Amino acid sequence: MEQNPVIWLVIPCYNEEQVLPKTAPQFESIIQTLINERDIAPLSKVLFVNDGSKDATWEIICKLSEKSPIIEGISLSRNRGHQNALLAGLMEAQHKCDATISIDCDGQDDISKITDMIHCYKEGYEVVYGVRNSRDTDTFFKRFSAESFYKLLNALGANVVYNHADYRLMGSKALAGLQEFHEVNLFLRGMVPLVGYPSTTVEYKREERIAGESHYPLTKMLHLAFDGITSLSEKPIHFITGAGLLFSLLGFIGIIWALINVAVQHAVTGWASIICTICFFGGVQLIALGIIGEYIGKIYLEVKHRPRFIVAQRTWDDD
Ligand code: UDP
Ligand code: MG
Repeated sequence: MEQNPVIWLVIPCYNEEQVLPKTAPQFESIIQTLINERDIAPLSKVLFVNDGSKDATWEIICKLSEKSPIIEGISLSRNRGHQNALLAGLMEAQHKCDATISIDCDGQDDISKITDMIHCYKEGYEVVYGVRNSRDTDTFFKRFSAESFYKLLNALGANVVYNHADYRLMGSKALAGLQEFHEVNLFLRGMVPLVGYPSTTVEYKREERIAGESHYPLTKMLHLAFDGITSLSEKPIHFITGAGLLFSLLGFIGIIWALINVAVQHAVTGWASIICTICFFGGVQLIALGIIGEYIGKIYLEVKHRPRFIVAQRTWDDD
C-alpha cells in the first residue's frame, strides 16, 4: 500500500483576531480526524501565515501552536496582501509535505471538502481546485462583479478556473513548478493553471464570513482584477494597436473627404467637428497610454525583483 500523504493546510490571516479562535479548532480537528482515520500521515499540520496583522492575530497563533502539536505559524515582516501571504505559506510548506491545501481563515470555504480533495490527490491529481457552486451568500454586486471578472479574464485569454478562488490542493510537484514562476505581480489562481499537471475540481458552497469584515472592498477588488488581467494577458496591448490602426485608417479617409470637400464646395469646415475629433482622439490616446503605462509599471516591478515576502518569525526552530 502507498504511504499516506503528509498534508499541510496553509491559511493566510490578516487582522483575524475575531475569527481565528473560532475557526482554528475546526481546522485542527479536521486534520486530527484525518490522521486518526489514517487518511493522511501523522506529520500533517495546519500552517497559519500572519500577514503583518495589526491586532492580536500573531499572539493567538503562537498560543494555539503551543497548545497543539498540529498547529504551526509563520509571521511576515509586514502586510503584503493575501496572494503574497499565501505564497509565503506554500513555499514554507512545500518541502515539509506531499501536498498543501490553501484555504481562507474566515470559515467561508467548506472544510468538509478537504477529504474529497485528498481523495482526488490520491487518485493522481496534482492540483485540485475548489469551485463554488453557488453565490447565494454574496451580495448581488459581488456576484455580478466576480462573474463578469472571470468572463473578461477568459475572453482576454487568461486561463482561470471559473468561480475558483484560492481554495485548492497542490501537490509538491506543482508547488515546485510554482516556485519557478518568479513574478512579483502575483495572481495565483491564474498562475497555477500555467504550472500544468493533471487537475480536477471539487464543488463547494461558500458560506458567509463567521466574523469580522472582508478585506476586499471594491477598490482592492478592482486592483486584483486589473493585476489579474495585466499579469496574465497581453491582449489589451494588441487591442490598442488594433484600435490605433483602425483610427489611423478612419483619419486617412477623413482627410481625403475633407480635401474633396474643399476642392468641390470651397466650404468653411465646421468648428464643432474639429473639437469633437480632438477630444475623441485625445481620450483614446490617454486610455492607450494609461494601459501601456500599467504594463511598464509591471515591468518596472519585475525588473527590481524585490522579495515577494520576508518571513520574520516561525513557531518552530529553524535548523
Ligand atoms: N488576507 C491576508 N492579507 C491581506 C488581506 C487578507 O492574508 O492583506 C487573508 C484573510 O485573513 C483571509 C483571506 O486572506 O483569510 C481572504 O480575505 P477576505 O476574507 O477578507 O476576502 P474575501 O473572502 O472577502 O474575498
Ligand atoms: Mg473571506
